[in-house]
Amino acid sequence: MKRSRMDTVLIYSEKYLEHRPSLSHPECPERLEAIVGALKRAGYWSSSGVRVVGPSPASRADLELVHDSKYVDLVENLSRSGRPLDLDTPVGSNTFEIASLAAGGTIVAGREVMSGEAKNASALVRPPGHHATRTMGGGFCYFNNLAIMIEALKREFGLKRVFVIDVDAHCGNGTEDIFYDDASVLYLSIHQDPRTLYPGTGFVEEIGAGDGEGYTVNVPMPSGSGDAEYAGVMHELFLPLSEAFKPELIAVSVGFDALAEDPLTQLRLSTSAYGWLARYAVEQAERLCDGRTIFVLEGGYALEASGRAAVNLVKVLTGERPNPPVKRQRLGVVDEIKHLLVDNWPLK
Ligand SMILES: [Zn+2]
Repeated sequence: MKRSRMDTVLIYSEKYLEHRPSLSHPECPERLEAIVGALKRAGYWSSSGVRVVGPSPASRADLELVHDSKYVDLVENLSRSGRPLDLDTPVGSNTFEIASLAAGGTIVAGREVMSGEAKNASALVRPPGHHATRTMGGGFCYFNNLAIMIEALKREFGLKRVFVIDVDAHCGNGTEDIFYDDASVLYLSIHQDPRTLYPGTGFVEEIGAGDGEGYTVNVPMPSGSGDAEYAGVMHELFLPLSEAFKPELIAVSVGFDALAEDPLTQLRLSTSAYGWLARYAVEQAERLCDGRTIFVLEGGYALEASGRAAVNLVKVLTGERPNPPVKRQRLGVVDEIKHLLVDNWPLK
């Protein structure tokens, strides 16, 4: 297929549907089937300007860019024995293989964008990754796909500054942990208040440590927060932080579990919000880093609504520009965060 700098790349493999370590688990193949089915019905699977690319598995060296070798061994051994990582995170005989393919697919997305083959990309992968720390998985995650991609891109392209925005309803405690003392990654996570949702971390006071102090920004959203509150956070925090940080790449952990329809959370985003949230990222990347944006799938358990949200997101990757809500709600936590980061960033 002809390649062009104007391409949007979607990473996908039917192998991602083979990960089903336990029946009736919410992190099921049907999640991804719903997203891919909706994109096909909307005409985004075979349209000009969109290229669907298959993954290749992450190597052990790739996995160990982020994860402790003992932990990689653990996932491999549990895949042989069929014992779970924890109660939420079962392991099947192909878990190591498919989780490596999810990490590898995310690296392919990164490479497509950094090499200039694609203008942006979305890695439609599972299992998800943002709860996996250097030394332990959990919360349906085994390997941290997005973090592995970032480290692989640093290695291959000499990338120095990546802005990560995580809009999954759960705090990406794995990503936070991996980059907590690392000033090369500014991690902004917008998630449901951890007092009311897994993983129970992601409070405003967690701002990074050492060289990375000020480079972790957690925005706990009160239950019931929706489009107006998210628009406020994007405007008040994402825009000035990204402006000051000057990233070379914007990477987005996309969880569709902040949708009002999601059965596991209490946030209230509309499906159209995933369009204008993507617009914030894409337009800021166009201003700051030649449009380089990569969206990596995390959670999202309302099947039909996730499909609609995914279509709204891919529309933006291919050029549509939906408007955010006119009414923005300013949250008290945003003021707290600005106060905490007053010495680190020019936040007014
Ligand atoms: Zn989630």
